[in-house]
Amino acid sequence: MAVHVFAWPMRATQHVLVIDLMYFVIHINTETFMKSTMQDGPLGLPLLLRHVASVNGRSRVGSFDAQRQRITRSFAELAARAGRLGSALEQRGFGIGAVIGTLAGASPEHLEAYLGVPASARVLHTINPRLHADQIVHIASLADDEALIVDAANLGKFREFAARLPRLRLLVIVGGPLPGDLAASLPYETIDYEALLAEGEPRLDWPIIDEHETAILCFTGGTTGLPKGVGYSHRSVWLQAMSLCTANSLALGSTSRLLPAVPLYHVNGWGLPFAALMAGADLALPGASLQPPDLLALIDAEGSTLAAGVPTIWSDLLAHLRATQRTNLGTLTTIACGGAQVPQSLIDAYAALGVRMLQAWGMTETSSMSAISQTPRWIASADRATQARCAAAQGRVVCGLEARVADLDGALLPSDGASVGEIQIRGAWVTRDYLGLDDQAHLHDGWLRTGDLGTIDADGFISLTDRVKDAIKSGGEWIPSLALEEAIRSHPAVLDVAVVALPDARWQERPGAVVVLTSGHAANSNELAQWLIPRVAKWWLPERWEFVDALPRTAVGKIDKKHVRRLMLERIDAAAPATEPS
Ligand code: ADP
Repeated sequence: MAVHVFAWPMRATQHVLVIDLMYFVIHINTETFMKSTMQDGPLGLPLLLRHVASVNGRSRVGSFDAQRQRITRSFAELAARAGRLGSALEQRGFGIGAVIGTLAGASPEHLEAYLGVPASARVLHTINPRLHADQIVHIASLADDEALIVDAANLGKFREFAARLPRLRLLVIVGGPLPGDLAASLPYETIDYEALLAEGEPRLDWPIIDEHETAILCFTGGTTGLPKGVGYSHRSVWLQAMSLCTANSLALGSTSRLLPAVPLYHVNGWGLPFAALMAGADLALPGASLQPPDLLALIDAEGSTLAAGVPTIWSDLLAHLRATQRTNLGTLTTIACGGAQVPQSLIDAYAALGVRMLQAWGMTETSSMSAISQTPRWIASADRATQARCAAAQGRVVCGLEARVADLDGALLPSDGASVGEIQIRGAWVTRDYLGLDDQAHLHDGWLRTGDLGTIDADGFISLTDRVKDAIKSGGEWIPSLALEEAIRSHPAVLDVAVVALPDARWQERPGAVVVLTSGHAANSNELAQWLIPRVAKWWLPERWEFVDALPRTAVGKIDKKHVRRLMLERIDAAAPATEPS
């Protein structure tokens, strides 16, 4: 523990004691420090809505409804409707801090709930409809949901658990009607969303809320285990939105037209709607459909300039463009892509269409994009190795967050671009805890252990090699599954691939690869192994290959490696011969 005493130059009699506990800095000086002359005020949703109403009211949100009719609403209308929602909930006796769940697509109504619920001092809980009903009951009980806003497209899902939410006392239907048999079976009141809004006032006099209170609850996607709950505060939502507006991030402004091709239950729609509202950037919301033809129609209708989404969305869109022989994406110039490793082939394919794809890295726990691969000015004159490393990296941490790398026992490793360890992160929009979990194993000296393995270089570029839970340790050495997948994917016949760890008597673990071939292309395991030989270390070559039509995916569209591994192990246990493409 290092203890430093600094003399404050302005007043020689005052001292600031700084205790540096392995990067954890405690300032002890509360009485003597000169107070600033600045005003103070809570950051958060009320402040955002006041800005929207008084400055960004003419910007607009566009979407298609369930009948594919175009909907357009100005931000001023959105703010007024959000006001009605907050006021109606209050009149119906939902107290301060009451949790209101949503089970809905990315619609303007869902966005109204994003604003009106937290700004009225209630808590929004965005539920992922693709989770299993048991998981939804688990997270809704943990969150203590008292009301649920469900859109017509998700009523089927709602039926699966409708009777299992003991605290629920109001069901709000968007785009109804509620089928009679379902209405009759429910032990709580139901109301149409527009009827609920009509009960409220279009208030803009939002309450003053302590910026540290919870605004939104969001659960992780459950890629590596049970979904875990994170409570974003008003302050963290605000700061994260500001971060997205900065030029080294997405540079959102009032000339941008943003299409978040991201479900609103996934990491707050990556925080993008809040950033757009803050910036006055027009928003295009994809409703219930992230299908390529619908996304293209939205880009064309709304003139989107910037979009964001996980790699699967963009590889599906690319396949659609090729199948329909369309060679441009209209007004779109930039895509922020993250949530999973972004293949270089995808970045290249979009570059050929004139669209710049920025890789980003983030987690539910870090509120959205925590690192982004914007290219610094000096890169053009850097050496080739640095250029290649930066091009392949997940990006550099955004200002306000800090990242470091440590081994799995917590010993810090150098940021030299070579030392592989777990990435740790901290900052004002990184979670400290998980909802309802006392365990602190996810923290190390106050830094969040991300569960991601990788390196950080001297310029701050983060390059991931794996998730800790997916890592392959062969003979004591890690084989980076993301790099191995990238090398396999570079074969022209490979559409997609997942590499997982298989148990091995001699080496403890060896890699196994499950491959999806591009339709109309052929390649067998021998050919793919030959392709790899000049590209990766020999001991990385997969021990076993399987060929499938599609990879299993999680509820947010990521490759489900737990599932892939289980499939492979089942085949190995059954002594089934490895598949080859027919
Ligand atoms: P889940 O943990 O269930 O997948 P999240 O959606 O919060 O839930 O996912 C965060 C994780 O996604 C990160 O910890 C990381 O493993 C992965 N991820 C995010 N962006 C990238 C990226 N650009 N490259 C590789 N992995 C990424």
